[in-house]
Amino acid sequence: MNVADALKQAVRTLETASESAQADAEFLLAHVLEISRGALYGRMQRPLPPEADEQLQFLLARRAQGEPVAYLTGDQGFWSLDLAVTPEVLIPRPETELLVEWALDILDGMALKTPARIADLGTGSGAIALALATELPQAALTALDVSPAALDVARRNARKLRIDNVRFEQGDFAAFLAACAHGGDTAFDMLVSNPPYVAAGDPHLAALRHEPELALIAGPDGLDCLRTICTHAPAALGQGGWLLLEHGCDQGPAVRESLRAAGFTNVQTRRDLAAHERATGGMKP
Ligand code: GLN
Repeated sequence: MNVADALKQAVRTLETASESAQADAEFLLAHVLEISRGALYGRMQRPLPPEADEQLQFLLARRAQGEPVAYLTGDQGFWSLDLAVTPEVLIPRPETELLVEWALDILDGMALKTPARIADLGTGSGAIALALATELPQAALTALDVSPAALDVARRNARKLRIDNVRFEQGDFAAFLAACAHGGDTAFDMLVSNPPYVAAGDPHLAALRHEPELALIAGPDGLDCLRTICTHAPAALGQGGWLLLEHGCDQGPAVRESLRAAGFTNVQTRRDLAAHERATGGMKP
């Protein structure tokens, strides 16, 4: 069997199980051949080695059962980066690039005199912190996560990408922000977070069953972590510092309310490409 036939067969295997059967099949086939997805098209007439076929069938069966492609291949593109991912971390989503873009816009307008101090709260694979760190090589990033296993993945990504301006810390949101509440020169210029924000019992968790609950679920209305961060963030931010939060598409009003209640000004929301309210932020006056 050549690569072209293997691809056709793989797409057919995934057709009923996945809405992105063609892309999934290309990623998995490229993965077993240890080449990029783009390089696949130069190989279509070559034979598929039997070991590669065996591995492909194993991965296709798992994909057909709902395992995300990123966990099967062990990597996911985010921003300009190729990130390692494991089932211990949430798979970085394209919507989260909105948060990175917004953070860069705001930092650009802040005209800081000293290198920016930025923390990514709940870093998971390190996606947000590492994207900001590559764009801002002078900035000092802190990447926080409560999960030591997630931090291992994030640290591995930093090493692989040769990014050395990110410091990793283990802890929960409230404890970390309280510990940073010393203000002065060490206050943060920006806190950015894609925290867990799905409500316990939300039916769409069924589609996310392979991802860590710890990274997804935040209390009965999904707002527990967002509220905790809003409440504790002012203590860790310097004057004029910003807090930017990703949230669910129906959580914009609640997050704006929490930010205002915590004393933030310039409270505003950005929409994602699907026009859903997706990120809300404010400035500490
Ligand atoms: N964006 C994820 C989803 O698919 C949720 C991520 C999160 O809770 N931070 O709903």
